[in-house]
Amino acid sequence: MKAVVVKKHGGPEVLGYEDVPEPEPKAGEALVRVAAAGVNYIDTYHRSGLYPTEPPFTLGLEGAGEVVAVGEGVEEVKPGDYVAWASVPGSYAEYVVAPVEELVPVNVTLVEARVAAAAMLQGMTAHYLTHSTFPLEEGQTALVHAAAGGVGLLLVQMAKMRGARVIGTAGTEEKAHLAKEAGADEVIVYTREDFVERTKELTGGEGVHVVYDGVGKATFDGDLDVLRLRGYLVLFGQSSGPVPPVDLQVLNRKGGLFVTRPSLAHYTATREELLWRAESVLSWIGQNNLQVRIGATYPLAEAAQAHRDLEGRRTTGKLILVP
Ligand code: NDP
Repeated sequence: MKAVVVKKHGGPEVLGYEDVPEPEPKAGEALVRVAAAGVNYIDTYHRSGLYPTEPPFTLGLEGAGEVVAVGEGVEEVKPGDYVAWASVPGSYAEYVVAPVEELVPVNVTLVEARVAAAAMLQGMTAHYLTHSTFPLEEGQTALVHAAAGGVGLLLVQMAKMRGARVIGTAGTEEKAHLAKEAGADEVIVYTREDFVERTKELTGGEGVHVVYDGVGKATFDGDLDVLRLRGYLVLFGQSSGPVPPVDLQVLNRKGGLFVTRPSLAHYTATREELLWRAESVLSWIGQNNLQVRIGATYPLAEAAQAHRDLEGRRTTGKLILVP
């Protein structure tokens, strides 16, 4: 079978489209034919080595597809079932072997497999950020960076579902327009306008209750300036680079602020929690209450181009790879 393999860490050019042996499911595992694999920023961290991984390995964590075989003793799924997942290494491939506890059932008459693949990781991330890390309440104001991105567009919609006022940021007018369509009340084009000044203006000088920041290095300092007294900075990523070490005293100076750095794994720690988030996301999509924008679809062989586009800030919404 074909798979996208990282033989050494580096830029998108290290992604090889290779023939590898088809994996076999062991006890507690299922073999899935991948209908689509999701591209996530974390894949670029694994590729570059920012997050430690030992090459060679097949990239990717997310996808959806049809179960074709199961290992000994597996009763949770059977061949013919459609499933989706957000945390199965080796997903940039034609087939993947997954522990069954990572798989979530998908009713493909309600949610197409490609859409499920697009929604799992970023959808559950937006879910935990808005419902658990800082559970937004009606009337609160949130600042969402990269609001037209994969996580961003879903985060905007879920923050609106919870009754918050949402200020987004985006790199271009076109992206700002998409974020508005997703429900953002205001969008700041932060490549042209200072987001700190504008956010303060938009909040009458008071600042926001929470900043959801997946951009990291470029926005972190500004985030501390746009939070209101005792506000929350939820730093969940670093598309512009990792945030350098911080003197915690700054949190005192700027108003008793809170900072957290969560990952999806912390919020899908049990099977029950994983199913709660995944089923919420998939059912909202099935009921048309949540829109998933697939900004681009690439053949699996073109994973390197998908990475170039994602890191080049040229994408909106979700990117998927189709074997
Ligand atoms: P996005 O679709 O948001 O793509 C990244 C976006 O970041 C770009 O389009 C761009 O939007 C913005 N950006 C700002 N500065 C830069 C820069 N210097 N280089 C590249 N992009 C930049 O990606 P994802 O939705 O996949 O991920 C968003 C973030 O969320 C990532 O940091 C990712 O690691 C994180 N994440 C964290 C999870 C967690 O559980 N902690 C789970 C999932 C994602 P613009 O032009 O509008 O600024």
